Amino acid sequence: MAAGNAIRGTRVGSGPMRWAERGDQAPRRSVTYWCANGHVTEPAFAAEITPPDTWDCSRCGLPAGQDRQAPPERPKVEPYKSHLAYVKERRSDADGEAILQEALARMRQHRS
Ligand SMILES: [Zn+2]
Repeated sequence: MAAGNAIRGTRVGSGPMRWAERGDQAPRRSVTYWCANGHVTEPAFAAEITPPDTWDCSRCGLPAGQDRQAPPERPKVEPYKSHLAYVKERRSDADGEAILQEALARMRQHRS
């Protein structure tokens, strides 16, 4: 009975690693980070290190911060541009019209 309770009382798997079992480790502390998706990441740092403000979420890769209420913004990803979008950017509609008129003029010249 008593032994069973003791086993149940240990926090198995409560962190990324069970540092307590490794007596040769330098003192460590785990820092909790929250990402914009609400995932929790708890990396452990050596006690003398100042933990970084943000940490990549271990589940989705978004930057995670130590403030649960204000996780870092999702990084702005450039929307994918198709080849056509690039062409349209370079060549305005007016240019397209001019090219069309030029082509028509050339056709008329050729006919007459
Ligand atoms: Zn996440």
